[in-house]
Amino acid sequence: MSVPGFFVTGSDTGVGKTMIAGGLAALLRKAGRDVGVMKPMETGVKTSRGKQPYDDASFLMKMAAVKDPPSLVRPIGLKAPLSPHHAALQEGIPIEIGVVMEAYETLRARHETMIVEGAGGLMVPITENFYMADLARMMGLPVLIVVHPFLGSINHAIISAMAAQAEGLDVLGIVFNAWKKGKYPAPDFQLIERKTGEAVLGLVGCIPRPDKRSIQKAVWEGLDIERLLARLERRTPQVRAAMAAELAEKDKKYTWHPFTQMKEWMKDDITIIGSGKGVTLRGVDGAEWLDGHSSYWCNVHGHGDRDMNRAVIRQLGMISHSTFLGLSNEPAARLAEKLVEISPSGLERVFYSDNGSTAVEVALKMSCQYWRHVEPKGARNKFLSLGGAYHGDTVGAVSVGGIDLYHAVFRSLLFDSVFVPSPYCYRCPLGQSHPECGLACADLVDKALEENQGEVAAMIIEPIVQCPAGMITAPPGYLRRAREACDRHGVLLIADEVAVGFGRTGRMFACEHEDVSPDIMTLSKSISGGLFPFAATLTSGKLFNAFLGDYEEKKTFFHGHTYTANQLGCAAALENLRLMEERGTVEQGLVKGNAMGRSLESVASLPHVGDVRRRGLIAGVELVRDKSTGEEYPWEERVGARCAAEAKTRGLIIRPLGNTLALFPAPASTLEEISRMTRIMGDSIREVTER
Ligand SMILES: *Cc1c(COP(=O)(O)O)cnc(C)c1O
Repeated sequence: MSVPGFFVTGSDTGVGKTMIAGGLAALLRKAGRDVGVMKPMETGVKTSRGKQPYDDASFLMKMAAVKDPPSLVRPIGLKAPLSPHHAALQEGIPIEIGVVMEAYETLRARHETMIVEGAGGLMVPITENFYMADLARMMGLPVLIVVHPFLGSINHAIISAMAAQAEGLDVLGIVFNAWKKGKYPAPDFQLIERKTGEAVLGLVGCIPRPDKRSIQKAVWEGLDIERLLARLERRTPQVRAAMAAELAEKDKKYTWHPFTQMKEWMKDDITIIGSGKGVTLRGVDGAEWLDGHSSYWCNVHGHGDRDMNRAVIRQLGMISHSTFLGLSNEPAARLAEKLVEISPSGLERVFYSDNGSTAVEVALKMSCQYWRHVEPKGARNKFLSLGGAYHGDTVGAVSVGGIDLYHAVFRSLLFDSVFVPSPYCYRCPLGQSHPECGLACADLVDKALEENQGEVAAMIIEPIVQCPAGMITAPPGYLRRAREACDRHGVLLIADEVAVGFGRTGRMFACEHEDVSPDIMTLSKSISGGLFPFAATLTSGKLFNAFLGDYEEKKTFFHGHTYTANQLGCAAALENLRLMEERGTVEQGLVKGNAMGRSLESVASLPHVGDVRRRGLIAGVELVRDKSTGEEYPWEERVGARCAAEAKTRGLIIRPLGNTLALFPAPASTLEEISRMTRIMGDSIREVTER
């Protein structure tokens, strides 16, 4: 059985990683295993001592008795005794991770087991944004943490284990190494195991002479090699695949997935995600995919972003949750101020909840109650929404939803809504072509409000792009016209920015494109950077003030959720906004969106692609049976779903919206990643529609 190996790291530099890595390599070699070694980057390299090169890499090669080219064993050697990042800066040679990984892959293909020795500890920078921990993760190796056993060892062992865990790394074990000194208090292994949750595999004692025999002997005597090997055996690709299969079985037996025909699901091959970094998702079996829909439209800075994680970990350390009923909390107060500051003018109050549907539910109930306060004898019980609208899955949100496939079955539960056709230019409801139409579809809003004079509490709209409907981009001016119509009829406007908010369309909020201030705005999905279920409903001062009165007047908004203003969600949202500012995420999104548009041109030219719609980093690709007439594929053929399935086999996760494929990458995606996404998408469409 092949054992991929492990990555030796330290609680600090100078703890004797090389002795451990070398000793284990020699022992495994002696036991008949084909061991490869690697020291991907070494700093403080002296070219020679006498004739023999004297460095960690050559030492490891000697211990493992391998004859690999030194340039593969140590692709990067730097003179200055600094972190690789700083040594490279000093020498003016940029470190290329690609080169290191190529060397690693070559060695891995040659050997049964790889022992890779890092430099210093896990948080040693290799480049500005890439640490030793990232290298271990990229190699897919569990880490063995070497700690000195002297005073302070418990602290160092715990801190290093916490760092590995926060990095999402698999810890093979912790070992102590006293090779240089004889006197030390014996570390309390049990305590360290209990406090870290990781295995302590032993203590290597003083090594009188650092020759191969003595090192091998000390490592053999000090460490529980059998336990180490047993733990290594649990990390083979075969074992991981078996674990994925076991988890899939549990999933199929016990869970019920959203929007999923479970009869099919239970038959299908399913994927169990284990981790993610940047825009890459990794299955527990090690397979990887590009996250083409930013984990359903919510991830902003990539998975495992360290700044996001740190903000949440800090908050975790303080408090995760205390109720917002009768109490407030620090991040909630700060975030509310920030949201009011960045949102369209007029929005002055923030009501927190925990998902897009609840944010919409709050908006609907608020508008309803608002009219009770200002028109006690009025009858404004209806809402106006667009055909194909989607505002969530709770009963109120479904009432204003216009996707029959999802909503029809619940009609008997729903309240009265008025619908106007969606401003869907590719299939214009009025049979016209833009811009000659003069936005006739916007006149329908006016007409509907006229016909229901005095009965409509609010219009609810997904500004600029109706995402779940199939990324339907409204013609320029539509949103503004809808706002004006609402104003003419004294109707509130609710902008559902759950999907389009936070830079996705190239502006912080989609309403900004047309300088529209809604009376209510709903936010969720990207608000927490995609880390937590979290949401907010923002309202105007006018609306808020209508709820003020003496308690007996019963003007209180009697609505709330247990996790309202959850501190972790608030902390994530605050950090998300701070990082968006610092990283210029909105501006970057605009630039990347344009690049995405250019690489979608080749997709648009495919014979079965009828329409490519895009705003910022949101794109919809509508598949048609006949491009010249726009004839649709029958929905039962599920062409979109088949293309998405094909894309998955090619390494891209996307989801279909009927016959439209959605591409909704995280703003953190690089241009290269975006172009890979569009290329796979195009290839998949070709494979499904042209074969
Ligand atoms: C996703 C979505 C919702 C619902 O949000 P959930 O968090 O899934 O409840 C509401 N409105 C729009 C526009 C959405 O895209």
